[in-house]
Amino acid sequence: MKKLLNSPLAGISHSIRKFTRVAATVALVAQAGHAIADVAPLSVQGNKILAGGQPASFSGMSMFWSNTGWGGEKFYNAQAVSWLKTDWNAKLVRAAMGVEDAGGYLTDPANKTRVMTVVDAAIANDMYVIIDWHSHNAHQYKTQSIAFFKEMATKYGNKNHVIYEIYNEPLQVSWSSVIKPYAQDVIAAIRAIDPDNLIIVGTPTWSQDVDAASRDPIAGTNIAYTLHFYAGTHGQSLRDKATTALNNGIALFVTEWGSVNADGNGGVANSETNAWVSFMKANNISNANWSLNDKAEGASALVPGASPNGSWATSQLTASGALAKSITLGWPSYSGSTGSSAAPSSRRSSSIAAVSSSRSSIAPSSSSRSSVAPASSSRASSSVSAGSGKCTQVVSNQWNNGFTGAIRICNTGTSAINGWNLSWNYSDGTRVTNSWNANVTGSNPYTATPLSWNSSIQPGQCAEVGFQASKPGANVTTPTITGAVCK
Ligand code: MG
Repeated sequence: MKKLLNSPLAGISHSIRKFTRVAATVALVAQAGHAIADVAPLSVQGNKILAGGQPASFSGMSMFWSNTGWGGEKFYNAQAVSWLKTDWNAKLVRAAMGVEDAGGYLTDPANKTRVMTVVDAAIANDMYVIIDWHSHNAHQYKTQSIAFFKEMATKYGNKNHVIYEIYNEPLQVSWSSVIKPYAQDVIAAIRAIDPDNLIIVGTPTWSQDVDAASRDPIAGTNIAYTLHFYAGTHGQSLRDKATTALNNGIALFVTEWGSVNADGNGGVANSETNAWVSFMKANNISNANWSLNDKAEGASALVPGASPNGSWATSQLTASGALAKSITLGWPSYSGSTGSSAAPSSRRSSSIAAVSSSRSSIAPSSSSRSSVAPASSSRASSSVSAGSGKCTQVVSNQWNNGFTGAIRICNTGTSAINGWNLSWNYSDGTRVTNSWNANVTGSNPYTATPLSWNSSIQPGQCAEVGFQASKPGANVTTPTITGAVCK
């Protein structure tokens, strides 16, 4: 959101006002009724953001500025984050850390603590979380930004949940000579520690000039660009800019959006919001609504005095908050077309969710893994009650030393498969580093068992064990796949 110099805020000693924002984004969910351990890794391919190798988008909420004394900081707690997940179906939350303004990170370390509280809560709830350097002048604080993001990358770089947003809303400064050089330096620092988590870069004019960024993009891996809109102010002309950017090949992330005016005031602009929602859905653009706060302004999701800790009744939601909740509740987080029907439609988000506990279970150091590894055939046959299947590896994305893909199990028989397991192994040093949509154990071979929602595979349908792997050579190797379900 944008910061305005304006009338004093009620109950706040500062005369700073904020507005604009959007954000939002994403998250996956695992709704399978058991312990959930991870989300699918995000990557960028062309103008799309992929989750587990498939196009996906997510919706959630942005926190208000974290600055001490501004009123929004009380919502930076685990209960509020958990409530967003369980009651709003939010797959994403954004921690908007104020930097140079009064009460911000540069002068009060409590801000970093607030951010980490939100990040830890998001991880615990299997949500994506944006760590946002919420500044309008970030390039003036590059040294501090690099130090901060190095710390975050060291602490969280191995978590699929974490997204770095390194410059909230640049003002009307040059993309190529101001923002891009800043971003390149911050990205280099992050990438020296964390090679892969998504990094989002702000664009000129309060993150609206995505077309400028698209004409001079940043080289690198898994980089997306920020688009912010406020439906009471921004309409088709901004969507046209976004279309230009997409057509030029960059991926966009709406880390902040509002249904009201760009200054944070005004009522909900329903029809323009609907146009934006349609645009984002059509283009798989993730989004976070500004903001989870109870300040007396149109953009706040909560009425003044609402509890900081969640459990918000409908009567405590503002018009903006009620709309944001309805959008988040119904957001289609998955719109890929791989032909897999692993997840029933009611669990749309689960189909790409990293539901499994696989990340930890494939950790190479564990000595107990081998005891649960392969030897699948006898157990598999006892757990397959009917039908026949066929198992193949499918690859959705690959790069120099890795790929994302799945073991796809298709029921080619005439009766349902109820319960299945399989094992697979590589002969060339390829190793699974992360997985989703199944319980995966072992370390080459790997053994997968289903989750509750994909345990049954109807005739003509398929389920997938999603994973990411490292590979030693240029090509993806076909594994040996065993299991009664595959015969
Ligand atoms: Mg990483």
